[in-house]
Amino acid sequence: MKTPAYIFDQSKFTARLKQFSDLRQKTRFKLLYSVKALPFPALLEAMLPYVDGFSASSLFEAKLAREVLLKKGQGSVHITTPGFRADEIAELIEVCDFLSLNSLNQWQRFSEQLAHSLNAGLRVNPRLSFLNDDRYDPCREYSKLGVSIEQVEWLDGLSGLHFHTMFGSESIEPLIKTLEKIEHVLGDVLSKLDWINIGGGYVFNDPAVFEQFETVIIKLCERYDLTVYFEPGKGIINDSGELQTRVIDLFESEDKQIAVLDTSVCHHPEVFEYQMRPTIKQANKSTGYSYLLVGCSCKSGDLFGEYSFDAPLEIGSQLNISDVGAYSFVKASRFNGINLPDVYIKDLDSKFIAIKKYSYEAYRQYLC
Ligand SMILES: *Cc1c(COP(=O)(O)O)cnc(C)c1O
Repeated sequence: MKTPAYIFDQSKFTARLKQFSDLRQKTRFKLLYSVKALPFPALLEAMLPYVDGFSASSLFEAKLAREVLLKKGQGSVHITTPGFRADEIAELIEVCDFLSLNSLNQWQRFSEQLAHSLNAGLRVNPRLSFLNDDRYDPCREYSKLGVSIEQVEWLDGLSGLHFHTMFGSESIEPLIKTLEKIEHVLGDVLSKLDWINIGGGYVFNDPAVFEQFETVIIKLCERYDLTVYFEPGKGIINDSGELQTRVIDLFESEDKQIAVLDTSVCHHPEVFEYQMRPTIKQANKSTGYSYLLVGCSCKSGDLFGEYSFDAPLEIGSQLNISDVGAYSFVKASRFNGINLPDVYIKDLDSKFIAIKKYSYEAYRQYLC
């Protein structure tokens, strides 16, 4: 396999999706996949047996989700964004089933147009913050994401509410506390609604936490007699993704060994954005041969970090960066004109299927 390459493991994301099968049977719980995390149509098609639809954050994502649903299968398309614009509403009505407006001003401008065409909702913001980095905290100060729950009253034509307040949480304590606050402030409104969308932002690794989640959802459905939509992205796809790369140069810089990779943080931008340390499959904890792994772009901050290996790296050594399923490909750029990685799905028979290879022509076409 030519590197760099993204590899997405179908058996892993299928297992993540299947985790919700029981809950979908037991109560009015609907699972959506948030396509912004990774929107390849082939992946969306593979997910169809296990989801009730898709959630989108823009017109293009919504159109893509609709296209996949029209081709194969059934399900609903949901959208919320601060970016609704008058010249896109008509097309959004065509492709979406649920649309949650992000402000009361948007509600005044667009709700009448939506009323008879789809399920009109409102994104609310419970203003209960659990994250200590403002850059991905929807409940940060002066948030642009949703109407403060204190300002929400019953609105004619309202069919549901949407909230999304977390990022990468392995605990559901934030969800429990958020629901408590929403029920306290908006209990009367909830009883009149058909649905509530609790967003995404959760990653279930502990079966005990998942059981707690099931209990919370069943209670919510029953108490207010409504359908609960959950729309995770990262929690479904992140650990399915790997970025396979090779060492293309080795040298010393002062007293450190530098290993230059054929990839870049531009293929895994959250490493740079959030200064996070990715997991490298071949690396060990601390001892052995130590290298500063660097990307091949001109940016001096294009660094993956310092890692140790049992054996010395060589030119051509292969390394696999784990957990790149969500928000890597979609944020990747061709900075420096460096080509994007090829894209493979590892299917249920462990066969590698190439779904996309980028060429000079693709680069050229992107420019003009
Ligand atoms: C990003 C987003 C999601 C998915 O979030 P994950 O952290 O990937 O689970 C769901 N809903 C909304 C409104 C979002 O903005």
